[in-house]
Amino acid sequence: MLARWRLTMEEELPEVVEELERLGGLRLGALDTLPHALTGGPRPGDERLRGMAARRPLVEGALAAVAARTPGVTVRRGVAAAGLVTELGTAGPPHVAGVRTAAGETVATDLVVDAMGRRSALPVMLRAAGVAPGDEERDERGFAYYGRHFRTSDGSRPPVSYSVRAFEGLTLLAIPADADVWAWVLVRPRATGRCGRCATRRCGTARSRSSRASRRNGRPASRSRTCR
Ligand SMILES: Cc1cc2nc3c(=O)[nH]c(=O)nc-3n(C[C@H](O)[C@H](O)[C@H](O)COP(=O)(O)OP(=O)(O)OC[C@H]3O[C@@H](n4cnc5c(N)ncnc54)[C@H](O)[C@@H]3O)c2cc1C
Repeated sequence: MLARWRLTMEEELPEVVEELERLGGLRLGALDTLPHALTGGPRPGDERLRGMAARRPLVEGALAAVAARTPGVTVRRGVAAAGLVTELGTAGPPHVAGVRTAAGETVATDLVVDAMGRRSALPVMLRAAGVAPGDEERDERGFAYYGRHFRTSDGSRPPVSYSVRAFEGLTLLAIPADADVWAWVLVRPRATGRCGRCATRRCGTARSRSSRASRRNGRPASRSRTCR
C-alpha cells in the first residue's frame, strides 16, 4: 500500500497499522531502495513517504482482527448481499432501507455502503429496485500480470529490494512483501496472448530465470497467480 494509505490509516485506524506490523508487514518506500547518489541521502520527513508492504491476506487479517475487537461492530462472514430493500418515498426515487441477503434474510439499516469492489453488483441491484444507477467510468488498462510469492529458507529478510526492470514487451517487478516473503511479478500487454499461458519466448525466459533465481534463495510460498 502506498504511503497515503498508511498515513490515513495512522490517523483514522492506527491499530490496523500496528496489527499489520505485528503480523510481519513492513514500512517501505521507493527512496529506501535507491542509491544515495540519486536521492541525495536520507532527509527528515522521508518516513512520511513509506507505505506498507504486506500480502493481501495479512492486510485483510489485520483489518479483520481490529474489526473483531471493536465494540459495536459485527462482521458476518459468508453472507452475500443479493439486493436492496427499498421503501417508496413521497416523491422521487425509492429510499434504500436495507439489504436482502442471498439466504433471503432482510437487514434493515439507516445507511448502506457499497464496498463490493470493482465488480460490484450495485448497478444491477439499483436497476432491480427501479433506481437509475449513477455514472460509472471503466477503463481498460491493457496489461495482464502474474506473480508468485517466495519465502526465504531460513526466515531471513528477502534478498531483494523493490525493483522494476523493463524488457521489450515485458516488465519484471521484484516486490518485498512481509517478513521473509517476496514476490516476482511479470507484466505484459494483454494483446500478446492469453494471460497465464504466455507462449512468447521472451516472457517464458524471464519467468524461468526469475523463478530459478528465487529458488536459489528461497522456496515458493504461493502458487503462480494470474491477474488481468
Ligand atoms: C493483482 C492486484 C494487485 C494489486 N496490488 C495492489 C497494491 O500493491 N497496492 C494497492 O494499494 N492496491 C493494489 N490493488 C488494488 C486493490 O486490491 C484494490 O484497490 C482494493 O482491493 C479495493 O478494495 P475494495 O474494498 O474496494 O474492494 P475489494 O478488495 O474487491 O473487496 C470487495 C469485497 O466485497 C465482497 N463482495 C462482492 N460482492 C459481494 C456481495 N454481493 N455480497 C457480499 N460481499 C460481496 C468480495 O468478496 C470482496 O471481499 C491490486 C489489485 C489487484 C487485482
